Amino acid sequence: MNLFAAGCLLASDAPLSLEEARTSNRWDCDAGFREAGTRNAWLRLEGEQLPEFVLALQGMAAPVGALTIATVGKDGTVEAHRYSERDLVDHWMPGNTYALPLDLNGERPAQLYVGLENQQSHLLTTELALISQTDAVNRRVWISVLFAICLGMLFIVAILSAVMAVVLRNRVARWHAFFCVLGGLYILSSSSLIFLIFPEMGLWTRSAINYASLAVGVSMIGPIMLRYFDHRELTRPYRIAIRIAVAVTLVNTFVMPLSAIFDFPARPVFHLLFLPCAVVVLGTMAMLLRKRSPEIRGFMLAWAAPALLGVERVLRGSDLYYLPLFTDYLFFFGLAFQAVAMTIAIGLQSMRAQRDLEAAQQAEARARDEALTDPLTGLANRRDFDRRTWGQSDFIAILDLDEFKGVNDRHGHAVGDRVLAESGSVLRRAVHGGQMMQAWRLGGEEFALAIDAPSIEHAAHALNAVRQNISTGIAAALPAIGRVTASAGLAPMGGDLRQAYRAADSALYKAKAAGRDRLCFESTNGERATIFPGQRAA
Ligand code: GH3
Ligand code: MG
Ligand code: MG
Repeated sequence: MNLFAAGCLLASDAPLSLEEARTSNRWDCDAGFREAGTRNAWLRLEGEQLPEFVLALQGMAAPVGALTIATVGKDGTVEAHRYSERDLVDHWMPGNTYALPLDLNGERPAQLYVGLENQQSHLLTTELALISQTDAVNRRVWISVLFAICLGMLFIVAILSAVMAVVLRNRVARWHAFFCVLGGLYILSSSSLIFLIFPEMGLWTRSAINYASLAVGVSMIGPIMLRYFDHRELTRPYRIAIRIAVAVTLVNTFVMPLSAIFDFPARPVFHLLFLPCAVVVLGTMAMLLRKRSPEIRGFMLAWAAPALLGVERVLRGSDLYYLPLFTDYLFFFGLAFQAVAMTIAIGLQSMRAQRDLEAAQQAEARARDEALTDPLTGLANRRDFDRRTWGQSDFIAILDLDEFKGVNDRHGHAVGDRVLAESGSVLRRAVHGGQMMQAWRLGGEEFALAIDAPSIEHAAHALNAVRQNISTGIAAALPAIGRVTASAGLAPMGGDLRQAYRAADSALYKAKAAGRDRLCFESTNGERATIFPGQRAA
């Protein structure tokens, strides 16, 4: 039963004693929550308004000078009990409240008075309620469990985000880890579970921690957004607006301490200072949604609920209207839900980034391959040949089709192309099995080969077989065009590729000059050697 709704209110700027309150004629039995916003207030229930069973007085655990509970018996005897702030802490309930046990001696008194001196928030008055002791016990258990669940979610997500921040070097995850830690501290202080850890803590310190952790925690959305969305999505004006909103929000860290020095209504000011942040975040989200940002859906899923609940809290905290305190639990769940959803969004984002990176690397590798490959023959091209740092193979050969111009002239360029393609596939097969290490099309109908062999004679025989295969391969593919032959020059690699290339080229020239369809090279003992197709020994 809410005392404020059911009973009468006597609000005053200066504290009034019980006697002064009892005899006052300024009691208001239809007061709204705005009338309760004074520093001092008395509440009164009488007659049938009072239940008979064992009760507890539940109220909001905000800083207060003192709280008096007085009963007036049917015979006029007055029993008063004054509680300090410390007593409220000792009877803390989860969810920013306390529950003082009331002993009515099993008898309904004529009147019940509750007086609050120097209250920090009008919620102290408006939230006062009589509940049964069993309700108090049940609430203590169940709400503690709910808060512990929220806390646990934030705690796990904070660790997860910290791991992601370190392992993936993800900067969104780093700021999100801070957010979770501060969110956890906020829930810990809001829920009063903090008194389990620090039993000596006063209500004022608890409130200061509560306000500061919420302010710093909420401001984390700034760095999170700035890093989660890239510069194309989040343009400069939005980035500036986010920074300003964060700065305003951070001022909130000091609202409680400042309100102790300068007398101003801390609660409404505190809540109103969140408004710029709420407007900027929701406005930016709407803009990103309109732009169809690929990242916005995950972000919205995480933040839409806490952002809207946050706006609701700001409006309520600014005393525009009134809802029971349990509405706050939604906000706590919003925070915990946000933490989990945001972690999933960050994980998905970094997975997407990883996939994009791999696709880009593959495209780059493909482009590199294409730039170094000859499309007609499928062999590596001249650019690849020139890029080589050599020394890997023992011999180099240059191979040139004989009288190829005549093939083009007699049968057309298309047939010439098919001859080149067939030569390419014979060379590629040669590279796959054996001593031919690699083959290139240097241009036109000229090819180069890198060969590994124990001696130049061994290399010459292997190369001679390739030459022959080219002829038979072309003959099989294009029987109508007559025999096509190839000449080749072979030279040892030595140290210098240019020199080796020149030696092989001059050997090729000799093969052409001597009548084509042959392979020339300098033998091991320094003699000029020539071998012909089908020849088995030098
Ligand atoms: P040699 O026996 O002295 O090597 O005579 P050749 O006719 O083979 O040599 P030449 O250098 O006189 O002619 C090479 C020809 O190769 C000229 C050119 O039209 C042809 N050619 C070069 N590239 C291509 C190509 O990609 N496709 C076709 N079909 N022909 C090409
Ligand atoms: Mg030629
Ligand atoms: Mg040529």
